[in-house]
Amino acid sequence: MEAERIYNFNPGPAVLPLEVLKEAQAEFLNFNKSGMSILEISHRAKEFEAVLAQAKADVKELMGLGDDYEVLFIQGGASLQFAMLPMNYATKEHPGSYVLSGSFAEKAYKEAQLLGVGTVAASSKESGYHHVPQQDELKIDPGAAYLHLCYNNTIYGTEYHYIPETSGVPLFADMSSDMLSRPLDFSKFDFIYAGVQKNLGPAGVVLVVAKKSLLEKTADQLPTMLRYNTFYKKDSLYNTPPAFCIYMVGKVAAWIKAQGGLAVMAERNAKKAKLLYDVIDQSNGFYNGHADKDSRSFMNVTFRLPSEELEKKFVEDAKKIGLGGVKGHRSVGGMRASIYNAMPYEGVQKLADFMASFQNAHE
Ligand SMILES: *Cc1c(COP(=O)(O)O)cnc(C)c1O
Repeated sequence: MEAERIYNFNPGPAVLPLEVLKEAQAEFLNFNKSGMSILEISHRAKEFEAVLAQAKADVKELMGLGDDYEVLFIQGGASLQFAMLPMNYATKEHPGSYVLSGSFAEKAYKEAQLLGVGTVAASSKESGYHHVPQQDELKIDPGAAYLHLCYNNTIYGTEYHYIPETSGVPLFADMSSDMLSRPLDFSKFDFIYAGVQKNLGPAGVVLVVAKKSLLEKTADQLPTMLRYNTFYKKDSLYNTPPAFCIYMVGKVAAWIKAQGGLAVMAERNAKKAKLLYDVIDQSNGFYNGHADKDSRSFMNVTFRLPSEELEKKFVEDAKKIGLGGVKGHRSVGGMRASIYNAMPYEGVQKLADFMASFQNAHE
């Protein structure tokens, strides 16, 4: 660990691989011998075109997807995707069908609801969002334009460990907080999007990976910038894209490849998550995990302590030893450790050791 850098457990913006930050730093003043920073380069310059093309190719290669999928970069955060999806694809006759599994899933549904084109396929809200709805809980309208899932619930710390069977209804997923964290049969999904500031880069852009057949659909009634087709036809260069963000996503994708790809990410992420879940499970109830065991997230580990006072002290004491960002979201309370791809094993080990000694001292 670099001097003065902490272990950053923030949910997003979040930790990035140190190697990637250093590479960006080294290239910062003179990108690819252009005599300019990547921040100063035209998005029409050949240097940038190469960055965009490489980022797209690496993302698709990591996901094992072929020519029937395209990669887009869109601004407005994952939150704008919540609105763009129903605007482009849902109608009153063929609504978007939503699985409510947490705060962001609900927000996505609310945008469709505003437009009068959203229905609910399943919800775990009543039971406190401790699990993601399982296959037998899903009631998918066979006429739905799509089934929308939030694949990892960043706030509640739950994650899907199966890919729903939809009987032909296109499968859409918000993967903001677990994109490229593990291998999946991505070809089972028709539309995937991720705000990159969780696991893939700095805030400012959303990575969209979708079937070309969906992106080819024109939606002429919509303003130009709200149509996926605009981004598709112009290779994400209809207007000025956030070049630096795309460059960083490209670097992170290349880093994942160099580490060995998604299988290696998954193996590391499972090991890291196990360290924390083991402490929780062996704490005799001192640490109370939010997620049901079969829905536990490998990315965001959420847990409570016996009192709010102890929770406050936990955050303070953790900070003193260089463990930052462990405070949970206000809607769940307690702690949340976000342990994305870039969080090293050593950081999680240090947090697990701290948890054990904190329990010893305060039980
Ligand atoms: C953070 C997050 C969002 C919101 O992303 P913005 O880019 O801030 O709009 C949406 N979905 C999930 C799963 C998230 O983790």
